[in-house]
Amino acid sequence: MLNQTFMFENEVAGSGQSIAKIEAYTLKNIPITPPPFRELPKTEGALLLRVETNDGVVGWSTSGYTHPVAIDLINKYLAPRLIGEDPFRTERLPTLFDRHTNERPLGRALQSAMAMIDIACWDIKGKTLGKPVHVLLGGARDRVPVYVTHGAAYDGAPVYSAEELAAEAAHLVMLGNTHVKNTVGRQRIPDPKDDYVRMAAMRDAIGPDIELSMDGNLRMNLAQAAELCDRCHELNISFIEEPIHYNDPANLRDLRQRARIPVAAAENEKFTALQLLQAGSVDFIQPNINNDGGLSAGVRIATLARVFNVPLSHGNGNGPHNIALHAGVQNGGLVEYHYHKWMTYNALFEEVPQPEAGWLTVSQKPGFGLEPKDGIISEYRVK
Ligand SMILES: [Mg+2]
Repeated sequence: MLNQTFMFENEVAGSGQSIAKIEAYTLKNIPITPPPFRELPKTEGALLLRVETNDGVVGWSTSGYTHPVAIDLINKYLAPRLIGEDPFRTERLPTLFDRHTNERPLGRALQSAMAMIDIACWDIKGKTLGKPVHVLLGGARDRVPVYVTHGAAYDGAPVYSAEELAAEAAHLVMLGNTHVKNTVGRQRIPDPKDDYVRMAAMRDAIGPDIELSMDGNLRMNLAQAAELCDRCHELNISFIEEPIHYNDPANLRDLRQRARIPVAAAENEKFTALQLLQAGSVDFIQPNINNDGGLSAGVRIATLARVFNVPLSHGNGNGPHNIALHAGVQNGGLVEYHYHKWMTYNALFEEVPQPEAGWLTVSQKPGFGLEPKDGIISEYRVK
């Protein structure tokens, strides 16, 4: 008997609108504003996708994944199959490659490439219908809370000292931000004592009323993460993000049971979102639409999270695109602006919602409201 859920039709009724052109670009050396107390990074790279329909509607997207192999995948492999497809059928497009989505060596690159295509198609849907994407999802709200992440050293710059972290956090608060986040576990061997000193310096600098969180970027084992949470409990930390290797669901559940700090995860592990929820591993689930299957996958995770009564949150560098998800669905939550990625968005796109007193006002323009600046492709494109 046929499994109707996964029976894919080769031919579907056309709407008249179809994908006519797909162009993916690697951009390099885009000048950005460095962090307040650093001279680096001065430039950033980005992947940019342009999808044009037969009736002249153009959708855009970018990625959190920066390896140019995703661009080759789109231009050489995905684009030829997608030309002629209806951009509104975002549940159909991945099925055209269904055999290949299980090929693990392509995993992250292919997921990121498909995410870029999905987001560009949602941009096209909004522009075709004259509606912002968050309204297409149901339009739960027109502003979302935002937190700012800083303190990660890039381009060979020295690691931030506790004093630098504290000064930069105080500066960001002085600009009106109400919630800041720093990375932890970044020593050669994760060092909870050192991280406590750094987080304590930040708490001292920003005072008791500003929210403070930390991101472990999958670098610690359970014992290290548990010690860090014990030490930092007195600092009133809003959440600890992805503290443990591989986002292991059992270890995160154990940490959550022991720690008195809420646990957040899922930016890096789309395929464990269900396991994290089933195991009771997280207080917040944090999909990144730009890396893992696009807005369509973000909506599925939001629905799953709602079933488990776990709030949606966000943790990655693609804040401006993820706003649409968090403003669109009822259980949407906090959006991250990662300082140097935020500056990259500011450099790439015409109008990027800017944090004001801890909030982002959602664009009411059709699509995502993120249009690349004129000339940005020709100037910074890697040929
Ligand atoms: Mg993170």
